[in-house]
Amino acid sequence: MATDRSPDADASLFDTIVNLSKRRGFAFPSAEIYGGFRSTYDYGPVGVLLLRNVKEAWWRAMVQRRHDVVGLDAAVLSPPAVWEASGHLESFTDPLVDCRACGTRHRADKLEDPDRCPACGARDTFTEARQFNLMFSTQAGPVADAGATAYLRPETAQGMFVDFTQVMTTARKKPPFGIAQVGKTFRNEITPGNFVFRTREFEQMEMEFFVPPAEAQRWHEYWCAERLRWYVDLGMPVDKLRLRPHEPDELSHYSSATSDVEFLFPWGWDELEGIANRGDFDLSAHSKASGEKLDYFDQTTGERYTPHVVEPAAGVTRAAFAFLLAAYDTEEVRGETRVVLRLHPRLAPYKVAVLPLSKKVELTDPARQVFASLSDRFMVDYDETQAIGRRYRRQDELGTPLCVTYDFESVDDGAVTVRDRDTMEQVRVPIDELVTHVTDRLGL
Ligand code: ATP
Repeated sequence: MATDRSPDADASLFDTIVNLSKRRGFAFPSAEIYGGFRSTYDYGPVGVLLLRNVKEAWWRAMVQRRHDVVGLDAAVLSPPAVWEASGHLESFTDPLVDCRACGTRHRADKLEDPDRCPACGARDTFTEARQFNLMFSTQAGPVADAGATAYLRPETAQGMFVDFTQVMTTARKKPPFGIAQVGKTFRNEITPGNFVFRTREFEQMEMEFFVPPAEAQRWHEYWCAERLRWYVDLGMPVDKLRLRPHEPDELSHYSSATSDVEFLFPWGWDELEGIANRGDFDLSAHSKASGEKLDYFDQTTGERYTPHVVEPAAGVTRAAFAFLLAAYDTEEVRGETRVVLRLHPRLAPYKVAVLPLSKKVELTDPARQVFASLSDRFMVDYDETQAIGRRYRRQDELGTPLCVTYDFESVDDGAVTVRDRDTMEQVRVPIDELVTHVTDRLGL
């Protein structure tokens, strides 16, 4: 489906965030000294923290705080048998068209105008659509024969299906229960782009929730609501989020119902996460292909059944990008524009920045002790260069919720100034109460 353009989408925000990401070390093109590499990105010192925080917030909501979900970390390399059974070798394809005028390739289902080339503007120059398989294959081992073919997983989900019995037994769970996984996946996307929105290498956060067949629809509705709430709880404005059920012709080969959580990106509404009702498609397919039972025997009812699966599948990098877009704000302060990332404290790369007022040793030594006590609990930045105002602005742009300034008075009164990112209000706090103060203020 083509992207739904909305009059409320702020197109200029795209360049603003791409520039800020590079300038401040969130994300930048990979292998840039060699001219970059095909829409791959590296995540810098604050980007890696943001990604970790997104994953941590997801794990907390999906595993840590649930008695009915356990984790898994399955292999990225997998044998063709997995993808044969799952249907990916046959059907994990996108429709590819070539423009006869300029030679560029496009995904037919993402074109805004199906007859017009977005690269050169020519009309009616597309070839017939061909199905292009998105999986990356490689060779495992030193002999490059057909038996050595391996695939890089294009989703983490198959690990949860293949390991279903192993996990259910060792974790002593029974349906309804879930298996969650966060990890790298690879898709040979025809048209990567829009910064980190669509890349060939990315990270996913997926959870397969196994339920008695009769309960699948109810659980699908439950997870749609839960997943939408997760983004709102992490500070995304409700008017920039929506839940969109897929049309029947959009459904993946395994899905009987899917709803997307969509975000209002600078180019319009687009997918953040898909919540699919996969039925018993995967467990049945792997059971048939492997000859192993992948079902559940309910001792209380004496019934044996193949559980149905509800799957919330989100992108880590795509979510991080959306959180940056949603958090970006500017305001006038004493005739100057202040840029501030109003990131939720749970997502903010640094929770606190410790800033000695001057570079004099009598301030930097104790300021480093303050850093040491805080960094035992939180990710903390330490910065002693430049004027204090500029250091505050830098932290505002990184989304750091609190700045702690150690000044000349601190030497005498054993207290520091704590400045709030959003209100810029400052309060004086005794150093020995600082960890508690920060914990309470951030709600962490
Ligand atoms: P699309 O239709 O946009 O290609 P999809 O519907 O195939 O995506 P899913 O298979 O549902 O995507 O993947 C689950 C989530 O993984 C997506 O909602 C998205 O957040 C993330 N994701 C998928 N493909 C990419 C990609 N190429 N780059 C970054 N994130 C991705």
